[in-house]
Amino acid sequence: MPRIYLLSPKEYAPEVIAVAFAKTSRSPRPLDENAAALNEPESSRFHEKWVLGYGHASVAEHAVLHLAVEGVSRLATEVLESNRLASYTEKSTRYQPLGEDDFVEPPELAGQPDLRNRYRQTVRGLFAAYHRCMAAARDEIARRHPRGENESERAWDARHRSQYADVCRFLLPAAAQANLGVTINARTLAHALRKMLSHPLAEVRQIGEAIHAAAQAEVPTLLRYVEAVEGWQRSAEAVSRYLEGFRTGGTYSDAWCHLVTWEPKGEVRALAALLYRYGNRPYVDYFNHVHGLPAAGRRALAEDIIGVLGEHDMPPRELEYATYTFDLVMDQGAYYEFKRHRMMTQTPQPLTARLGYAVPKLVTEIGMESDYRAAMESAAATYEALAAWNPDVASYVVPNGFNRRVLAAFNLREAFHFLRLRTAPNAHFSIRRVAWCMAEEIAAVTPAMAAFLRLPEGETREDVEAQYFTAV
Ligand SMILES: Cc1cc2nc3c(=O)[nH]c(=O)nc-3n(C[C@H](O)[C@H](O)[C@H](O)COP(=O)(O)OP(=O)(O)OC[C@H]3O[C@@H](n4cnc5c(N)ncnc54)[C@H](O)[C@@H]3O)c2cc1C
Repeated sequence: MPRIYLLSPKEYAPEVIAVAFAKTSRSPRPLDENAAALNEPESSRFHEKWVLGYGHASVAEHAVLHLAVEGVSRLATEVLESNRLASYTEKSTRYQPLGEDDFVEPPELAGQPDLRNRYRQTVRGLFAAYHRCMAAARDEIARRHPRGENESERAWDARHRSQYADVCRFLLPAAAQANLGVTINARTLAHALRKMLSHPLAEVRQIGEAIHAAAQAEVPTLLRYVEAVEGWQRSAEAVSRYLEGFRTGGTYSDAWCHLVTWEPKGEVRALAALLYRYGNRPYVDYFNHVHGLPAAGRRALAEDIIGVLGEHDMPPRELEYATYTFDLVMDQGAYYEFKRHRMMTQTPQPLTARLGYAVPKLVTEIGMESDYRAAMESAAATYEALAAWNPDVASYVVPNGFNRRVLAAFNLREAFHFLRLRTAPNAHFSIRRVAWCMAEEIAAVTPAMAAFLRLPEGETREDVEAQYFTAV
């Protein structure tokens, strides 16, 4: 019988657990005996020698931390959440209303009284417009969906809050505060901290220092030598110099969802790999076989292998042989959700107020469009005033409604997951629009497999756009 048990963090420190696991590589002893024979100073010496000294870095993955991070800007969460091998849950702007002071003031503004005043005025203006929107949109949703006979106000609100918050959150700037829980191993955390400590924003560096100090109480050795990476800063500066020769800017054009490259034989490769998995011949035999099949034959094969899976069944790993790269423009609210898809390779451009903004239809329907547009224009003007001094700090003032450009590469397996989750009716309409467009592009180049994406029926990208957005 196998012997299976936990090395509980209630009993052992994270660095001790990591050493107990590492020792199983050379020691025939059971893992709990390894752990019982260790203490923290000994574990620390082990990590110094093997993990930090000889670079056996994967051992640090066994030391896991749960970090509570509160009162940080949404802009700063982007840096923390950009680490793929960690888990995050963040306060939702769809379900929690924000108070008028729930924003961060970037530390850089301390020495700039005029810009600081303008920043405060603009951000307060955005929060005031957000609150006006919340009240008016809530009234409209209440008119459209009256309370049930025995339904309490609270129960009604819990059921409908996302319908008005989804719309009004377009006004919230990147300075808006977030709370988040992060579960992360020491190896990923060391990388995350290096990124934060090297970041151009003072808030991010401060968060990095605070996390470093808090985490060292639990993981003193593995994070001991973490510091800013000068090379990353130098390469960012070099790229900026290189880009001086390029024109910046651009507009919110029709090309907001552009499938730039894809693996032309992706479908053949994925199906061939699926045959290979269960077969015994060289890959090329299966590739040639699938390549020679007519479209109907490929589809029938895909149906046999993919079509039989249930709605929540993970598709097989072989779908990863089909890959896509999209150049996307989406509003910042959608990007906040998009960025959480860790299996993608994502490259967002800096957040600016230069690519136009989306206008949610409900804002127009409640008679707030000019109020909304005035708040957006004021934010754009303050963005430009701040950007002339410091473009990184200027991003704080940009509301969720403004568009942002993101390059994203991923495979068909992740596409199945992402598209199902983000075209679903309970997803926010901003990301549904993006997901629908991506689904259409993927279906055009991967028709046999895409037939089994199981997206909501009877809806298209145009439907989502027409239902939720005012034409710009
Ligand atoms: C309706 C809705 C409401 C949401 N509300 C909130 C909210 O209030 N707050 C909030 O913070 N987020 C919220 N989210 C975001 C959600 O929690 C996910 O972070 C996001 O959808 C990314 O999904 P994912 O982790 O499944 O995908 P990806 O990161 O793209 O990963 C794809 C798949 O890979 C696997 N995977 C990836 N990483 C890991 C890992 N570390 N461990 C195990 N498996 C892994 C999983 O199978 C996962 O489904 C919401 C999402 C939806 C759709």
